Amino acid sequence: MAWTERQQALLRAMGLRVWQPPTRPVAETTTAAQAEPVSEAAEIPAPVQAPAAPPRPASPGPVLDWAALRDAVAACRACSLCESRRQTVFGVGHRQAQWMVVGEAPGEQEDLTGEPFVGAAGQLLDAMLRALGLTRAEDGPESPAQRVYIANTLKCRPPRNRNPAPEELARCEPFLVRQIELLRPRLILAMGRFAVQALLRSSEPIGKLRGRVHQYQGVPLIVTYHPAYLLRNLPDKARAWEDLCLAARVFERAHDPP
Ligand code: URA
Repeated sequence: MAWTERQQALLRAMGLRVWQPPTRPVAETTTAAQAEPVSEAAEIPAPVQAPAAPPRPASPGPVLDWAALRDAVAACRACSLCESRRQTVFGVGHRQAQWMVVGEAPGEQEDLTGEPFVGAAGQLLDAMLRALGLTRAEDGPESPAQRVYIANTLKCRPPRNRNPAPEELARCEPFLVRQIELLRPRLILAMGRFAVQALLRSSEPIGKLRGRVHQYQGVPLIVTYHPAYLLRNLPDKARAWEDLCLAARVFERAHDPP
C-alpha cells in the first residue's frame, strides 16, 4: 500500500509517522524489519498462544443471517440497557469487509444515530483508518481488502456512558460472536479493554497486549488503544499508529501468503 500525498498529509496532521509498505514479502520477517525503518515493531511477532479461556457463549444460532441477526439485536431485551437506549447500534460497514474493528459500546451520538463510532472518537478512528486506505463506507472501494466493518461489544448505550457491566457484556456477546462468524474477517482490531476482554478473555492492560499478534478463532487479532482514550492521551497516538501498521503488515501477509 503506497501513501498518497493526501494520506501523508493526514498522518502528519495527526502527528504520526508514515508507514511505508515493505519492499519484500513480509513473511521474511528478518529482512522486513530492514525494509520498514519507521517502527520497532516492524517484524511480525509470532502469534500469541491464547490462555485457556472459559467457553464462549453460543452465537444466537447458526441460522441467523445478517438480516435476522440485525432484527434480533433490535428486539433484544436481555439486559436493562434496553430500558434506557434510544435504539440499538448494530454495526456498520460492508459485509464483505476483510477488516473488522471491535469497540466498546455506543455513546450518546451513536445512540442517536444508530451507527457506531460517529462522535469525536469515531472521527479519530476514521482518520486512522483512512490513513491506511481503509473505509467503513458501504459504497466505498470495490476491494474487500479496503473495507472495514465496525461493531461494538455492547449494542446498547450504557447510561451516562458508564463502563459496561459484566452481565451486560455476557448477554450481548453472542451477537458479536455471530457478526464475526458471518463476516469472516481476515483481521480483527480490538480497541480498548472491553473488546479485548470479550475477544481474548484477557484482563491484562492494553499496553501489555499490544505489539503482538493474537488470534480469535483462527483470525489474527491486533490489540490497540481505544480512540476515546487516545483523545485524552495524545502520546499514545503514536503507539496506536504502530499497532495499525502492525495490523497492516499482518493483513498483507494473510492476504498474500508467501
Ligand atoms: N466508543 C465505542 O467503543 N464505540 C462507539 O460506537 C462509540 C464510542
